[in-house]
Amino acid sequence: MKARLSGVLFVSIFILYSAVSAQAQELGPGFHKIKDGIYTFAPDATTTTCSFVVTQEGVVMIDSCSSPLDSRKMAAAIKKVTDKPVVFLIDTETHSDHTANHFIFSPPATIINHQGAGEGMKKEYDPKRAETLAAKSPEMRAALEGSRMIAPHIEYKDRMTINLGERTFELIYLKNVHSEADTAIWLPKERVLFASSAANVRRFLNLLPSVVIPDVLASYKLMKSLNPEIVVTGHGPPTTTKVFDEYEGFYTLLLKRVGDMAAQGKSLADIKNELKMPEYADWHNQNRLGANIDAAYKSVKK
Ligand SMILES: [Zn+2]
Repeated sequence: MKARLSGVLFVSIFILYSAVSAQAQELGPGFHKIKDGIYTFAPDATTTTCSFVVTQEGVVMIDSCSSPLDSRKMAAAIKKVTDKPVVFLIDTETHSDHTANHFIFSPPATIINHQGAGEGMKKEYDPKRAETLAAKSPEMRAALEGSRMIAPHIEYKDRMTINLGERTFELIYLKNVHSEADTAIWLPKERVLFASSAANVRRFLNLLPSVVIPDVLASYKLMKSLNPEIVVTGHGPPTTTKVFDEYEGFYTLLLKRVGDMAAQGKSLADIKNELKMPEYADWHNQNRLGANIDAAYKSVKK
């Protein structure tokens, strides 16, 4: 009897599990259901991740995907899950691979990011983007219908809380970690953290001259202190706080190696020639090691 009961239980769990995973699969490859009503779309290991969260009063999106084709897939996925409109679209950074397709969601979405985001987007804006992309395929041209740049409607300072329906979104500004304005989004009840591109998943980041590695390390400490269960970074599939540990290890080792070589009197050019990070040979975008050495050199020379 007991065995039969557990058999029934097992079958029911299996059916429930299949139903849940089928639901996310139905949205297409790259979509993950991370919690009830919370979905991410990571097309592959390195392409920009975009996400959406359903609430009783509408949808909140995080980033608007890199390719307009991905954004259209995202819009279709949202429609499959809910008939509610996208109320807010929060940007985790200013770069165009996260922000250039706002036109697909806004209106009705109100765009939000930290102070300085609009300014940063305007600096990077490429007026030829739509034209260049449209030449790639008729599908791409169709997906670009209505293309225009939309800077954030709302820019907050340091922290902002959004209460929508049953959910709370805490927006946290991360200084000097990636772009002109980087925002982490924390859902305290669900313990889901959208971590921006302060970290990605096993990938060398293209550190711009404005990035300060000690500030990046401080952002990991802050984000870990929230104790999230699931972490969604700017690029790559959903993960956990282990990404922060991995990047912490990487930057700590990089700072140590660059610091030692600089102390031996080596120039930045020498260091770039000689320094290797074989422990991270399987990370994507190895060609960005130079930019990482630049940032590390600036930190150790301070
Ligand atoms: Zn970026």
